[in-house]
Amino acid sequence: MDLLSGLAGVLPGGRIVADPDELRRHGGGVFTYHAPRPPDAVVCPESREEVVDVLRFASERGVPVVPFGEGSSLEAQTIPVRGGISLDLGRMDEIVEVRPDDFIARVQPGVTHGRLNAELKEHGLFFPVDPGWDASLGGMAGTNASGTNAVRYGVMRDQVLDLEVVFADGTVVRTGGMAMKSSAGYHLTGLFVGSEGTLGVFTELTLRLYPVPEKVLAARAVFPGIEGAGRAAVAMIRSGMRIGRVELVDARTVEAVNAYKGTDYAVAPTLFLEFGGSEAGVEDDVRVARALSDSEGCGGFEFEADGAGRERLWEARHEAALAITRLNPDKKPMTTDVCVPIGDLPDALGHARETIAAHGFDGAILGHVGDGNYHAVFPVDVEDPDEMDRAGTVDGQIVRYALQRGGTCTGEHGVGSGKTGHLREEHGDSLPFMRGIKRLADPGGILNPGKIFAEEEWRAPG
Ligand SMILES: Cc1cc2nc3c(=O)[nH]c(=O)nc-3n(C[C@H](O)[C@H](O)[C@H](O)COP(=O)(O)OP(=O)(O)OC[C@H]3O[C@@H](n4cnc5c(N)ncnc54)[C@H](O)[C@@H]3O)c2cc1C
Repeated sequence: MDLLSGLAGVLPGGRIVADPDELRRHGGGVFTYHAPRPPDAVVCPESREEVVDVLRFASERGVPVVPFGEGSSLEAQTIPVRGGISLDLGRMDEIVEVRPDDFIARVQPGVTHGRLNAELKEHGLFFPVDPGWDASLGGMAGTNASGTNAVRYGVMRDQVLDLEVVFADGTVVRTGGMAMKSSAGYHLTGLFVGSEGTLGVFTELTLRLYPVPEKVLAARAVFPGIEGAGRAAVAMIRSGMRIGRVELVDARTVEAVNAYKGTDYAVAPTLFLEFGGSEAGVEDDVRVARALSDSEGCGGFEFEADGAGRERLWEARHEAALAITRLNPDKKPMTTDVCVPIGDLPDALGHARETIAAHGFDGAILGHVGDGNYHAVFPVDVEDPDEMDRAGTVDGQIVRYALQRGGTCTGEHGVGSGKTGHLREEHGDSLPFMRGIKRLADPGGILNPGKIFAEEEWRAPG
């Protein structure tokens, strides 16, 4: 029996999508240089029971299954490199429950962060993790996503209190609960968050929520050089202020944003900042941030006090990566994602700038520098082996610089199949243990094969 008729035998009608555009969408990322590979079938379950049925079916036949949210991950996480089923959780998009008094929401995996936040407005609450794409909460848990708010509120792993997980054999477990803290056994929720679809499929998430601060103020600070901007960001973190967001964009990024969004921000390394709290607290934080910026030769500190100005500023920042790609529309973006100890940040930014220039790329640097996390984005021609080789060298040098300082190859994008070599460099000693966990959860190796571990690696003896 072929795959499609086999699936039709275990699922209600309308769950299997045969449209060629959808097969293409599920076989390539929205924003990636990795080679596409369409799945053999796109399946859209509408309940936990249907997820169980698909996984049982696939396990019995050894068919690969790749969970799919919005497909916006950047390291080929959703590309089915061995074919099989792309399991699209987009139709499981119910906000099951909002408990304002407990600061908790229970959601199905297909709900996006934008939709959850729209729903939370009436409660005066918000969910802070905000990747620059309206990604699904299931996918965000899959990559342990973060974004501009992480410096104050933490990353996805800090927000997920509980997951309902379906294993490859169809077993359903819950990993946590509704309590804000727990010491009950191993931290399975933390293990599954960031597992990139390789250990199980999330069918429900319980998330922490936060009150919207009384006063919010956004600002832009412009600097003569990227290292100075980095030093100012580090000084703000060191000062202990409750800063909401500290985002750095270099001059090339500002140029791209101005062209893409029609803004007229000064073309220079810039920190986008946000302060939130009580009226008096915000005023105090702004005063300190301004003084620290001035001591790094800040050439302009401007506020976006009204809601529209703030929205324009953060929209520009969120769409900066897209804006950069528009500068070279015939090429694909390669994006590094290193994160370094915060004190190493200014030099790391300078090193990245020099490395990109030394290899002749039209690159840009931007990042969540309050966490020591930044991206070098350089457009590549995937058909040009020499250019791909040079891009690999730049990527390798930036990653090695971070690892030598105790940093990581990926602060938020995850490993996928793009960073398996870097993971080996970073965590070679613990890879056998990780592989053991993979074998325990998914003995047949059907869940997102070829991700986190290179294809040939995951079966290697412990
Ligand atoms: C323009 C742009 C800006 C971005 N900015 C940021 C940023 O600032 N910060 C950041 O962290 N990321 C960023 N990203 C990357 C991306 O948005 C995140 O990786 C996001 O978490 C992916 O969510 P998704 O719904 O698209 O998931 P997908 O890409 O569909 O899936 C991601 C991973 O999770 C797995 N998965 C999906 N659903 C489930 C499920 N229900 N159960 C188990 N596993 C599942 C998949 O198999 C895959 O391995 C950006 C991407 C773009 C295109």
